[in-house]
Amino acid sequence: MSRKTQIVVVGGGAGGLELVRRLGAKFGRKRHDIILVDKNLSHIWKPLLHEVAAGSLDANLDEVGYRGHCYRWGYRFFQGSLDGIDREAKTISLAPVHDEDGRELIGQHTIRYDILVLAVGSISNDFGVPGVKEHCLYLDSREQAERFRTRLLNHCLRVSRAMMKNPDADEQVRVSIVGAGATGVELAAELYNAAGALSHYGLEVFDESRLKVTLIEAGPRILPLLPERLSAAAHHELTELGVRVMEATQVTEALPRALVTKDGQTIEADLMVWAAGVKGAEFLSSLGLETNNRNQFLVRDTLQTVTDDNIFALGDCASYVPPGEDRPIPPRAQAAHQMANTVFDNICRMQKSRPLKHFVYHDKGSLISLSRFSTVGSLMGNLVGGSLAIEGRLARFIYTSLYRLHLWGIHGWVKGTFLMLIGRVNRIVRPRLKLH
Ligand SMILES: Cc1cc2nc3c(=O)[nH]c(=O)nc-3n(C[C@H](O)[C@H](O)[C@H](O)COP(=O)(O)OP(=O)(O)OC[C@H]3O[C@@H](n4cnc5c(N)ncnc54)[C@H](O)[C@@H]3O)c2cc1C
Repeated sequence: MSRKTQIVVVGGGAGGLELVRRLGAKFGRKRHDIILVDKNLSHIWKPLLHEVAAGSLDANLDEVGYRGHCYRWGYRFFQGSLDGIDREAKTISLAPVHDEDGRELIGQHTIRYDILVLAVGSISNDFGVPGVKEHCLYLDSREQAERFRTRLLNHCLRVSRAMMKNPDADEQVRVSIVGAGATGVELAAELYNAAGALSHYGLEVFDESRLKVTLIEAGPRILPLLPERLSAAAHHELTELGVRVMEATQVTEALPRALVTKDGQTIEADLMVWAAGVKGAEFLSSLGLETNNRNQFLVRDTLQTVTDDNIFALGDCASYVPPGEDRPIPPRAQAAHQMANTVFDNICRMQKSRPLKHFVYHDKGSLISLSRFSTVGSLMGNLVGGSLAIEGRLARFIYTSLYRLHLWGIHGWVKGTFLMLIGRVNRIVRPRLKLH
């Protein structure tokens, strides 16, 4: 009996999970063995993490368990964290898995591959600024978002109690966010949405005025990837909410409860979030594949790594500079989605010994959700004849479409649509905030 072709996808995130669903649906278990490896047991779409952090989304409701998903779509799942690739033997190695008490559950093990796809995402880039690792929180994973939420709620509770004891006390929860790209801006607005709802859930004397959010951006304006008009509109909206927006301000050090800026200011804060760009995890540059200075795998236009034809990389962990351009494709969910489609096509073509497709990125624009307050963004493409700035309800509808696309990508359109509807019902029948 001939050996099955083993296709291993490492990372079940925005790109990897869509890919493995399509591979499973296409090849099933007959001639191929499709394997997903992820360090976690469940998937949550990363662009939702700012809502998890603010407490306005319960991650339990939106997570997708890999074991149930793989049973449905005909692939196998292994929990484990990639820590090595042996390209000679065509195997990957996974670090041991431990339980909550640190006991080893699964020892170090290896998995054979014929085709390997790396889709392990990114982590926040602290650019080596002293003190950031020790004192700032990141929004790279569900655990980190939940840690932020717990600390935020604790501070809100502290302020609420202090105000009850002494109504004249000027107590505040001070949150500083470094980086005013999509993540920082969306988090700032979402925090005001959440703070406004806390008074309904037992923190009677807490309201938005007790929250002091400072958004710090090193560049000359917030949302640098959006047209200036939209960046100004978002700036105005945030200021109206109460956010202190500091542009052209570079943070040079993080202290236990303060950030120090290049121009000598000290910004005190109870919680500090670092959201100033992304890079690949450090270990990616030691796997024997060529990487750039941000630890991202260099890939060709077929999305095969420049080092190995049998290894593809996609999404945030891949660096692809399209011909004639000087910058790589930005780390976005839409890029991961489009790359997953190209890798799927190319794996199918490889099976038939056909020439591989070239990846072409179609930038559909950027949309930034300012929670329930507003949505701003720009649409790109042939349909709108270039770039079109949009705001309001239409922008909100298109913003949620990106998630709808992802749900269809990982569940198929029937179940994806049902889940979207269930999500809407949940927003009505469940509490507005997750408070535990
Ligand atoms: C708060 C926030 C808001 C965002 N908003 C938007 C938005 O509005 N629009 C947009 O386009 N993009 C947005 N992004 C960016 C977007 O989330 C990412 O570009 C996208 O998720 C990248 O997809 P990916 O598949 O490359 O990686 P991810 O979705 O990050 O998935 C990586 C997967 O790899 C797994 N993994 C990591 N390391 C290992 C390992 N060593 N071994 C095994 N598994 C591993 C992880 O557990 C994870 O499941 C946002 C990001 C954040 C944090």
